[in-house]
Amino acid sequence: MKKLASSAALSERADRIARRSRADNWKKPPRRIETSECITCDSCLRGCPEEFGAVFDRGLDVVIVPELCSGCPACVLECPVDCIYVDEDWTPTDDAMWNHIELTAESAA
Ligand code: SF4
Ligand code: SF4
Repeated sequence: MKKLASSAALSERADRIARRSRADNWKKPPRRIETSECITCDSCLRGCPEEFGAVFDRGLDVVIVPELCSGCPACVLECPVDCIYVDEDWTPTDDAMWNHIELTAESAA
């Protein structure tokens, strides 16, 4: 069963969403999902710790938001097709996706 996050950890996630940036003390690069290999099973979404909440199912694809991903990498252990890779060259998430994330965060609050 997934471990529940503390309120402090959840508030740190909310802060990352508000700042749209990764935590300064994260040493590992984020992960990314290779869309061409992904079977959109959502196992990684369920496996990503609540305090990070970095995986989103957008309907047509499943994505990791690098600013929310600590690189932990719990999702990698869950993926049945092994299509989650280290993303050293990640690019910032676009505004449309941030708007979606903010709406999701508000509805969960
Ligand atoms: S590496 Fe960790 S934080 Fe990043 S998406 Fe996977 S489970 Fe979530
Ligand atoms: S676990 Fe793997 S195959 Fe399933 S949605 Fe995530 S990346 Fe795609």
